[in-house]
Amino acid sequence: MESGALLVEGLEVVYGRSVRALRGVSLDVPVSGVVAVLGANGAGKSTLLRAVSGTLALHRGAVAAGTIRYASERLAGRDPALIVRAGVVQVPEGRRVFANLSVDENLQAGALSTRGSALIRSNRERVFDLFPVLAERREQRAGLLSGGEQQMLAIGRALMASPRLLLLDEPSLGLAPRMVGRIAGVIREIAAQGVAVLLVEQNVTVALDLAEKAYVLDVGEVRLAGSSADLARTDEVRRLYLGEEETAAPDAASAPARPTPRKPLRRWVG
Ligand code: ATP
Repeated sequence: MESGALLVEGLEVVYGRSVRALRGVSLDVPVSGVVAVLGANGAGKSTLLRAVSGTLALHRGAVAAGTIRYASERLAGRDPALIVRAGVVQVPEGRRVFANLSVDENLQAGALSTRGSALIRSNRERVFDLFPVLAERREQRAGLLSGGEQQMLAIGRALMASPRLLLLDEPSLGLAPRMVGRIAGVIREIAAQGVAVLLVEQNVTVALDLAEKAYVLDVGEVRLAGSSADLARTDEVRRLYLGEEETAAPDAASAPARPTPRKPLRRWVG
């Protein structure tokens, strides 16, 4: 496995005493480009991002085993603010913005860990370049923005912290197709600017289009991994995640559906 900016090995996460949400998860995110994590509801995608951003404790979760290294430094157990300062910044699911604060104030809140007014100014300019609509609405209360604009603001706020690795949790969730396309374009642009992106998505078409490499999580384990192009060609991904019908053998038409075999886990595709 190529050694990247983020290296997760054998990660186990538990919530409370009994819920094991991740089992033996290993993945690698290089210093640039987009890596996607796919999977159905409850597969453990958000849990993975929480483990990387150090925010599991806020959800009564903990790393039970394994290692998370970013730029060769161990992240597990570190204060979330220090993880942000190391360049790893999460945009949480559900485009959480401060509804009663203005667009500008939300962006300012994202810059709390950023040192130097010149850097804050240039980060803000970069956000307004990516999202001109935020510049037009900078005085407006965030709660009055549309869902798509709130997602832009949530991403913009993360960019104010000068990320080198951006963790994106379902940025397309609940957005109209046109807005999904705009957000995808911005993610591509952010990656082109040299920021690595770990993208959690249920919209597999969008994710495989954006990412060079993807991992498929299934009930807390990595089930498939490979280049996006190779994964998009597998029957499993086409059937389970892209909604395509399997080509049935002529005599199989009336046979009962067989459950998908679960072994071997972590098959490298391609
Ligand atoms: P979704 O796409 O629905 O957001 P997900 O792939 O992000 O799903 P997670 O939210 O990471 O999945 O959940 C993984 C497992 O951990 C699920 O079984 C879920 O019920 C459980 N879980 C998540 N958060 C908690 C929590 N705070 N306490 C207990 N169990 C939790």
